[in-house]
Amino acid sequence: MHCLLCDEYISELVSWYSFFIQSEMRCICERCERKLSYIIGESCEGCGRSFTSLSEEYREGDFCKDCVRWKEEMKFLPIKNRSVYVYNDWMKEVLARFKFRGDAELVQVFHANFVAVFHKYFSDCHAVIPIPLSKEREYERGFNQAELLASCLPLNILQTSISRKNTEKQSKKKRIERLSVANPFYFQKEETFAGQHLLLIDDVYTTGITVRQVAACLYNAGAQTVSSLTLCRG
Ligand SMILES: [Zn+2]
Ligand SMILES: [Zn+2]
Repeated sequence: MHCLLCDEYISELVSWYSFFIQSEMRCICERCERKLSYIIGESCEGCGRSFTSLSEEYREGDFCKDCVRWKEEMKFLPIKNRSVYVYNDWMKEVLARFKFRGDAELVQVFHANFVAVFHKYFSDCHAVIPIPLSKEREYERGFNQAELLASCLPLNILQTSISRKNTEKQSKKKRIERLSVANPFYFQKEETFAGQHLLLIDDVYTTGITVRQVAACLYNAGAQTVSSLTLCRG
């Protein structure tokens, strides 16, 4: 078969590398696999960011400085996030393909590792909720990548009326602007999640504002805990 990322032919020969890494279903070649950076070893208790390459000054005990700042601002309840991969340049390229070229089958590349991280941290959650795209963006892309990722997991995808207003891209704004704008997420109808442990799914956690905004809606609607599992941590 051919590598889903670079189209190179993958030989069926088992090398020492494939033997140990067990690239699931061998849908990508060794060279592409090596460029992926897994979050293993020590990571932030809050956002799941790897401490391996993070300089000491960005760390405060078990938390990274980002998470400490979120706690100090106290605008949102704390959220536990875990991610599978470091959002490196290669991952940016892979995700861009996944998002914008409508290459939905790429989800196979991440499937097994995504499920493994789910079992490690979130197996006691009741249901998953993919972070919604605005109607306009979903129309542009033809699918929501968060929904595809959520469908990999052995949990119900909760059908909620939570929606996103089409606003200017958040990444273009400064942090302070992002914090001051109104929450773009809202329920189209009244819903309650009393006592539920919910897991949000998205492709990337960068600033953490998106998952917190959605979590704020769910907490308002009675959720007991809201956590998030994202494919990458920026
Ligand atoms: Zn490849
Ligand atoms: Zn953190």
